[in-house]
Amino acid sequence: MAELKLSETRDLTRIERIGAHSHIRGLGLDAGLEAREVSEGMVGQTKARKAAGVILQMIKEGKIAGRSVLLAGQPGTGKTAIAMGMAKSLGLETPFAMIAGSELFSLEMSKTEALMQAFRKAIGVRIKEETEIIEGEVVEVQIDRPAVSGAASKTGKLTLKTTEMETVYDLGAKMIEALGKEKVQSGDVIAIDKASGKITKLGRSFSRSRDYDAMGPQTKFVQCPDGELQKRKEVVHCVTLHEIDVINSRTQGFLALFTGDTGEIRAEVREQIDTKVAEWREEGKAEIVPGVLFIDEVHMLDIECFSFLNRALENEMAPILVVATNRGITNIRGTSDRSPHGIPIDLLDRLLIITTQPYKEDEIKRILDIRCQEEDVEVSDDAKLLLTRIGVETSLRYAIHLITAAALACQKRKGKIVETVDVSKVYHLFLDVRRSTQFLMSHQKLYVHSQESMGDNDQG
Ligand code: ATP
Repeated sequence: MAELKLSETRDLTRIERIGAHSHIRGLGLDAGLEAREVSEGMVGQTKARKAAGVILQMIKEGKIAGRSVLLAGQPGTGKTAIAMGMAKSLGLETPFAMIAGSELFSLEMSKTEALMQAFRKAIGVRIKEETEIIEGEVVEVQIDRPAVSGAASKTGKLTLKTTEMETVYDLGAKMIEALGKEKVQSGDVIAIDKASGKITKLGRSFSRSRDYDAMGPQTKFVQCPDGELQKRKEVVHCVTLHEIDVINSRTQGFLALFTGDTGEIRAEVREQIDTKVAEWREEGKAEIVPGVLFIDEVHMLDIECFSFLNRALENEMAPILVVATNRGITNIRGTSDRSPHGIPIDLLDRLLIITTQPYKEDEIKRILDIRCQEEDVEVSDDAKLLLTRIGVETSLRYAIHLITAAALACQKRKGKIVETVDVSKVYHLFLDVRRSTQFLMSHQKLYVHSQESMGDNDQG
């Protein structure tokens, strides 16, 4: 296996790109995991947020691995927003990977390879490396008791001994501070002025009579001992298994992580890496940090993907799987069977289900308010009321979309604040689903391949 190059990048680019949730900064919970009504960009949906917070707590405490959570609810009820809130609340060292079900169907790699990559993006490895600090650099030396005479004993790994001619009193924190960044060599002599506390490195050219005379009787001299100035420091790198896979599977190495052009990774490479990581774990050099894999639109997965998930969750390194869907009872892709949320019963049985509820008018108003601030659009109170009404009558998402469109209409008429006239202009310009459906119904015959009745099309 090629030598591992370690990177501390996280797979967050995808999350940052999704502007629709840029206002979400966390789950908005208090210390007791109760959801505040409005907090960290989150509004309402308190039960679901609290449940997500409990899961998060279990993840942080390392209590659950290989478990899965289903966020189920109607469109636009904040399932993705809650997953984003979870991502933001996880510590930097816990990986969060996100894919939409539809992303698995690409020509470049098989569905299961794409899923495998997503899984490994959500498994972190904390690698502890011991680095040697340059000889003689004094770092974090702690002296636990004042030495009386002779050798001074310390809790740090560095030991400073006195020369035969002086007595060392409490060297104290000052010495550590003064020498912390200075390099000392074994055999160097350090002078400490007892009265002022000033510490001077004399080095090897120390002359007992000259320096002693120059510094006066207050001075203590300490000599660094031979061969004891090497100090080892632990450095921790956090990477994901996927990053290690990519670095070791392509000639361009880590650059592929930035281009995303990782291609399929051979099973042997993964096996080698798993073996190596297992060795590191046994030697105490590494530990596994199971993160979170979020799969949106999970109903888009087919039966092969579901059985892959079932198997992958058995792995002891498995991350927490969070899936979301807005589907009711529908077809399981790749079969003629129907099932709740389009998920096979055996997988469904493993899931902790969190449901999201439709928003009340006041909550819609608050979310729209937050979005106006986020999109930096100033909106008059009347226009906000109208937007809220539209949100209630149509959908939250449609109302959110109208904010920037209305701001452009306002700009066009050289206005400074979005007014009702701007909102109603874009409302008539862009149809919501209901009006678009009505239009289709009344003009059906004019369309190509249209059917007389609108059937229930469950296949996302
Ligand atoms: P779908 O089933 O259609 O995928 P969803 O349940 O995932 O919908 P989101 O995409 O999370 O819905 O929500 C739609 C928009 O409303 C997003 O911009 C989201 O950030 C925002 N939003 C939803 N719920 C909340 C909330 N409780 N607080 C703040 N913003 C929210």
